[in-house]
Amino acid sequence: MSDIIHLLPDSVANQIAAGEVIQRPASVLKELVENAIDAGASYIQVVIKDAGRTLIQVSDNGKGMSETDARMAFERHATSKIREASDLFELRTMGFRGEALASIAAVAQVEMRTRRHEDELGVAVEIAGTRVFKQEQVMCEAGTTFFVKNLFFNVPARRRFLKSDNVEKSHILTEFYRIVLVNPSIEFSFFDGDEEMYRLPSSNLKMRIDALFSSQKKKIQQQLLSIETANGLVNIVGFIGKPEFAQKSAQQYFFVNGRYMRHPYFHKAVTLAYNQLIQASDNPSYFIYFEVDTHSIDINIHPTKTEIKFENEQAIWSILSATVKEALGKFNVLPSIDFDRENAPEIPVNRNIENIKPPQTNFNPDYNPFNASYKRPTLDWEKLYGGFEKDSAVKPSEDFGEIGVNKENQIPSTVEHLLIESEPEQQKLSLSDEFQSANFQFKSRFIITGIKSGMLIIDQHRAHVRILFESYLKEIELHTAHSQQLIFPEEIELNDDDMLHFKSIEEALLAVGFNLTFSTKNQVSIVGIPSMLSASGIVQLLHEMIENVRTTATDSKQNLYESIALALAKSASIKTGQVLTQQEMSDIIDRLFACQNSNYTPDGKSIHTTLTQNELLAKFG
Ligand code: ADP
Ligand code: MG
Repeated sequence: MSDIIHLLPDSVANQIAAGEVIQRPASVLKELVENAIDAGASYIQVVIKDAGRTLIQVSDNGKGMSETDARMAFERHATSKIREASDLFELRTMGFRGEALASIAAVAQVEMRTRRHEDELGVAVEIAGTRVFKQEQVMCEAGTTFFVKNLFFNVPARRRFLKSDNVEKSHILTEFYRIVLVNPSIEFSFFDGDEEMYRLPSSNLKMRIDALFSSQKKKIQQQLLSIETANGLVNIVGFIGKPEFAQKSAQQYFFVNGRYMRHPYFHKAVTLAYNQLIQASDNPSYFIYFEVDTHSIDINIHPTKTEIKFENEQAIWSILSATVKEALGKFNVLPSIDFDRENAPEIPVNRNIENIKPPQTNFNPDYNPFNASYKRPTLDWEKLYGGFEKDSAVKPSEDFGEIGVNKENQIPSTVEHLLIESEPEQQKLSLSDEFQSANFQFKSRFIITGIKSGMLIIDQHRAHVRILFESYLKEIELHTAHSQQLIFPEEIELNDDDMLHFKSIEEALLAVGFNLTFSTKNQVSIVGIPSMLSASGIVQLLHEMIENVRTTATDSKQNLYESIALALAKSASIKTGQVLTQQEMSDIIDRLFACQNSNYTPDGKSIHTTLTQNELLAKFG
């Protein structure tokens, strides 16, 4: 067999958001496991040590690499998987950028052993900080093993930025779950040090979910209802939790075409279907798999982002909503039916749109969820909730705090959403390890946190403006924003002059997630807005933006973009006076220092200041 890796042409390479691939041990795990899947592995073993700080090891029995490919694989933009820019927009393989291994090798000590099944000898490569130390022929198993040691050994600032072991481990597991939940036929094992945390045999989707989330005490299988629908627009299969098993921390997963995604808008469709069926404080679990034509979605090529834009978002929303409601409706009409059917057919995750099976009707085929005369049977609430709240918590949420509720799929909280993590190139501050200790909010305005040299005081609003500004700007430049549809479109009336200015920012507005229709001559309907913004005040905000363009000499496109990004950032940011949780505070700190400029807001105001230990001591005389 000949060598199969090619170098991407520059034009393609330039489309790629480089350098942001590896942010933490979890990113390494994701890239290596996805490569193993792409290599056709049927068994993948993961070993981590010290939450991935010391070692992340991924072994597969996939196709392996030739000697030349073993070396080429570490070149930036070396990939066997795409040739053309248009391929970037298809999700046929997991990795499609050819930069993961190069990025990993730039920030860690990497050893790789690989052998193709047809070769007698394999090859071992050792590389660290992009320097190749060794390449030699070795005897080894067919397939590929990567040992990634001492991540960020040569970037101390980033190493310091890593969180506690539990947090990093929970990030790792989050990535692991997202991958194993779409690859049920692949066998996985996961070792934390010497301890085997997971052994997931090759199986079907339902068994995989069960293997991942069931404990001795509870079998998650029995808590799931299956959903399935297919039409020309979208195929949806998967499982949703029965209402009585809803709990505070739930497992919530969306996948599209075999890839994890977050989708606040679809999340809403699911949770609304549970309206009245569960307590407001509880969340339903769901594992929902969409298959759509690759051309009808816009994948964010930013490797660390998981938002995906659908062409037919509203229609799919309705289909999803009806499908979930129908499953819940049937369940409530005929609660005695056991959904845990033996011989449940395997749900194919990657199937063709053409290959559509009609939805199964195992229940009451005459049932019509839209029939107004249908009344849901009254529920015995106390009985439904008794005993479930505590018991059904899922393992990792107990162990690692963060995983439980899959926050990402929830409607964006103030801080979580839309933030692009960028590379903290130079650390402006030497943040110490105590950095992770609790932060303190003062006067609902400042976040105070300890650093090596003293005390760091951050203005929460300004920090968030900076964070959002950079993220919006990037979205404008990359055209990758996420938008939410307004149920009631807002109308804005503009005079001729305003309209002229408005037209000049239209493209940028679309890029950040506005969805506009021009109805009559001077009237614009706002049908969609960036998902971070709230609908109220949107008209006002647009007027302000128009005013901005009018008054500032925005000759360059960049200036224009920046002024839009700033207006959005100010509007969407958390404000002075808002009480923040520990999580929100540490998120802000993390994201702030990953910004290109973390010292000043785009309009030049100081974001943080320090009170050094010496200054403090001096005050005490
Ligand atoms: P990409 O996955 O985007 O192509 P990577 O940097 O992740 O880029 O990998 C570069 C190339 O190295 C891949 O295209 C593939 O040919 C090869 N490769 C990486 N990991 C494996 C593996 N586990 N088995 C076989 N080939 C691999
Ligand atoms: Mg890859």
